[in-house]
Amino acid sequence: MKIGVLAVQGNFREHVAMLRQLGVEAVEVRKPGELDGLDGLIIPGGESTTFTRLMRLYGLDEAVRRFTGPVLGTCAGMIVLDREHLGLVDLVVDRNAYGRQVASFEADLLLEGDPLPLRGVFIRAPRVREVGPEVEVLAEHEGEPVLLRHGRFLVASFHPELANDPRVHERFLDLVREESHVGA
Ligand code: GLN
Repeated sequence: MKIGVLAVQGNFREHVAMLRQLGVEAVEVRKPGELDGLDGLIIPGGESTTFTRLMRLYGLDEAVRRFTGPVLGTCAGMIVLDREHLGLVDLVVDRNAYGRQVASFEADLLLEGDPLPLRGVFIRAPRVREVGPEVEVLAEHEGEPVLLRHGRFLVASFHPELANDPRVHERFLDLVREESHVGA
């Protein structure tokens, strides 16, 4: 299994480290051709306006649209995938929508199907405003969705690569395994 991490900007190193810790081959992706042969892709957190600009500049926006494997988007990566950006996930999110005082915080999250809470690190996080009918909520914080799945897309408004807890990445890898069986 080979997973790419979009490395134009933001927290890509932490995602690569998490994947390697899980024994998975991880590569940094900076050019469209580097998406060829990948089983999955991670779009990390960072700054979504910079992200969108750089992706367009390098042709990565179209390349990500053409990519057919599972994608994990975290924080800015979630913003980039929503209806108002790449339009790949049926969600609308508001950027930096937590109040100034709590712009960044940590919280225990309830993870669907798991009795152990998940530590969520939120850094100027997006807040989900609208959820399409096919989107499944996998974790919430104070009644609001923070981890969601839409088909082959998994998106988190927090930073699972910073909490030293591999469960979100493991769920993503399960998705990658499921999809590759379907395709086989
Ligand atoms: N606030 C950033 C944005 O709007 C996202 C923050 C993050 O990825 N940590 O793009």
